[in-house]
Amino acid sequence: MYMNAEIIAVGTELLMGQIANTNAQYLSSRLNNLGMNVYYHSVVGDNPERLKAVLRQALERSDVVVTTGGLGPTKDDLTKETIAELLGLRLVLHQESLERIRKYFKNQKRCMSENNVKQAYIPEGSVIIPNNNGTAPGCIVQKDGKTVVMLPGPPRELIPMFEDTVFPFFEGKTNQVINSRMLKIFGIGEADVETRIMDMIEKQTNPTIAPYVGTGEISLRVTARGSSRDEVDALIAPVVEKIKERLYPHVYSDSGETLEEVVVRLLSDKGWTVSTAESCTGGMLASRIINVPGASVVFDRGFVTYSNEAKMQELGVNRKTLEKWGAVSRETAEEMVRGLVERTKTTAGLAVTGIAGPGGGTPEKPVGLVYVSAFLNGRVETLKLNLAGDRQRIRTVSCHNALDLLRKMLLGII
Ligand code: ATP
Repeated sequence: MYMNAEIIAVGTELLMGQIANTNAQYLSSRLNNLGMNVYYHSVVGDNPERLKAVLRQALERSDVVVTTGGLGPTKDDLTKETIAELLGLRLVLHQESLERIRKYFKNQKRCMSENNVKQAYIPEGSVIIPNNNGTAPGCIVQKDGKTVVMLPGPPRELIPMFEDTVFPFFEGKTNQVINSRMLKIFGIGEADVETRIMDMIEKQTNPTIAPYVGTGEISLRVTARGSSRDEVDALIAPVVEKIKERLYPHVYSDSGETLEEVVVRLLSDKGWTVSTAESCTGGMLASRIINVPGASVVFDRGFVTYSNEAKMQELGVNRKTLEKWGAVSRETAEEMVRGLVERTKTTAGLAVTGIAGPGGGTPEKPVGLVYVSAFLNGRVETLKLNLAGDRQRIRTVSCHNALDLLRKMLLGII
């Protein structure tokens, strides 16, 4: 049985553009995992008439309506009141929730205001969704074949409530499960990806293949629907394998990892270490590696050597090399990485030097010319890149290339 669901985010802040509707994104993805079809997202301010109109329409066209926000203690928080009125249900005091709210304030050593009592009133006959990270409990109301789920606005409250109570509530009810896997691709263009898997895209029904284009990289989401998680995973696996074969060696993850996550994982599996020497990327590469939890096991240090002086002083790049070939050259990149590893004694090293623009380009060395060198166990490989785009994009894609070069060396692809 398929269920149609829709999401209503309540809050004037959302309409004013003060916050992004991340709750809708999260809820959509999780409702899809439950096998529901999410057909609409709405956002409505804290206005009783408009809220009522949106809710009325949602109840007409959807089996499941999930609301977020407007469960607070103040007068303009009126999601629960409006839904109860529309469904013709009374609000009744839920003693246990009131106790929880009292305890919450006591634990926080704060004084509970009388307004908070309002949060413990729940439409009669609802299933309560306890809130361990805030005051407003949520609830699930079922009436005339419709299910309404009410959740508070703050994501740190909403997410655990959904995971602990709402997901299990629906799990057995839809006999459909949806799951997906994210393939991450680098080093090949969008058109080329499509050409190589065109026949698979054309034939797709279950699983489906959806491409997403990022900055210099591409993702493919492979999604299947079935009656159990095992069945769904069995549908997805051969498609993932086939895509990986067709796009070899460009699929760097089949589970949504970033390039830096893959590199950190490969290094730590071997007990190896890495250091970085950066010119035009200015620490971005080091920062991306450090962003990965557990990077401390593999990352030793990073140098930002922007000037020629810095390249000579910190990395021992030869003055003659810089004079003869220039700072942006294969020779300099290779001396940077060798000098780096000589000093840090890490198993691997990465060096980047290039012209990120918008100024500084010449006919021989245009903006976007970048050299990336990787060192691994005594071996050095260098890439000459001609990147398009603005300064930020050139720096970002330079980092992608550095990480991917090291990934390929770690896997023995090059
Ligand atoms: P509270 O009990 O904290 O008052 P509430 O249910 O009344 O919760 P709101 O007052 O609507 O929720 O929103 C509280 C906060 O939650 C907002 O300031 C915002 O930071 C966050 N929030 C609300 N709606 C969303 C949303 N759709 N996506 C992401 N964050 C949201």
